[in-house]
Amino acid sequence: MSTFLSKPPAPDTKLGSTLPWSRQKGCEPVNPPQTAEALAMIIITRPDATEEQIEHIVSRINDWGLRAEVSRGEMRVVIGVIGPEDKIREKPLGAFPGVESVTPVLKPYKLVSYEFRGMPSKVKIGNVLVGGKEVVLMAGPCSVENEDQIIAIAQSIGKAGAKILRGGAFKPRTSPYSFQGLGKSGLQLLAEARRETGLPVITEVMDTKDLELVCEYADCLQVGARNMQNFSLLREVGRTRLPVMLKRGMAASIKDLLMSAEYILSEGNFSVLLCERGIRTFETMTRNTLDLNAVPVLKAETHLPIVVDPTHGIGIRQFVPSMALAAVAAGADSIMIEVHNAPELAKSDGEQSLLPGEFVDLVGRIRGVAEAIGREV
Ligand code: PEP
Ligand code: MN
Repeated sequence: MSTFLSKPPAPDTKLGSTLPWSRQKGCEPVNPPQTAEALAMIIITRPDATEEQIEHIVSRINDWGLRAEVSRGEMRVVIGVIGPEDKIREKPLGAFPGVESVTPVLKPYKLVSYEFRGMPSKVKIGNVLVGGKEVVLMAGPCSVENEDQIIAIAQSIGKAGAKILRGGAFKPRTSPYSFQGLGKSGLQLLAEARRETGLPVITEVMDTKDLELVCEYADCLQVGARNMQNFSLLREVGRTRLPVMLKRGMAASIKDLLMSAEYILSEGNFSVLLCERGIRTFETMTRNTLDLNAVPVLKAETHLPIVVDPTHGIGIRQFVPSMALAAVAAGADSIMIEVHNAPELAKSDGEQSLLPGEFVDLVGRIRGVAEAIGREV
């Protein structure tokens, strides 16, 4: 993974447009990393700026060896410029025709900051867009266990309205004696479930040594809570062209989460989703404390789509639906739910997994909340 081949797919910031699905090339490295002294500037164009003016700005930025990220809103175009601080500061970015303002991003997280795009990003997982009007449901077992299990669950959650199948093949477990996942054969079973149902799959990559293998099968890489600050893994997933869902560490602040995401974007991969999955507090009646404060705060701080995982957040089947509904009300772009067809036999997290019928019921209720706040399922 030493040569840099081409630009990664930018997150889709234009409603309704589509990007090619390039899963097969998922592990190919992309742009060179930003230097430690990298700076981000935001060019906001005038509402009457022409397409030629915008193209001119972008091509000059590229000629200078800087990188431009273009976000097209209803009213105006925002061009984020990234590059070494000394190089950016000397350029007359404000002098181009069509430019209204040029401002540096002052926050420590730059590429993930809301102002870098000035609008929410949409991230494409397979053929599913996350970050638009639709609240996208991801569901599936904690672990992929066998063919019958994953196919049956994939079929039932797909029929119920889930758009993305989840399932772990590499499992981070507290005990080394617990089930660690099926590894490669688990990935193959996920691919089979995708063939059967058409659902794109999200699965965890725990280690850089497995990244190439996971990229061959996944439509979206999950970086788990325990790895949120595994900076070498973050950099490596940032060099792929697959979307990445980054889960909040159990003792990580919201700012820590944003800084970790910055690692991924700084390597050239802008297709990132952030996932609130509960943090450790003094509370012992629930597995974790689902921090729904994080949802509106993150929506204000970053353009990246926000996923909420109420299953790990509360950890008790009976209470998962309430927190899923609350997460939708709080503004989540996607909800991830663990579902198992025989939770009592599950190799991990059976106690917090919904039964398929309970998931069907929950989808109906989520739809009601989504519609009440002007969204859809
Ligand atoms: C999971 O999604 O099954 C998982 C292990 O999540 P987390 O990293 O949030 O604990
Ligand atoms: Mn789990």
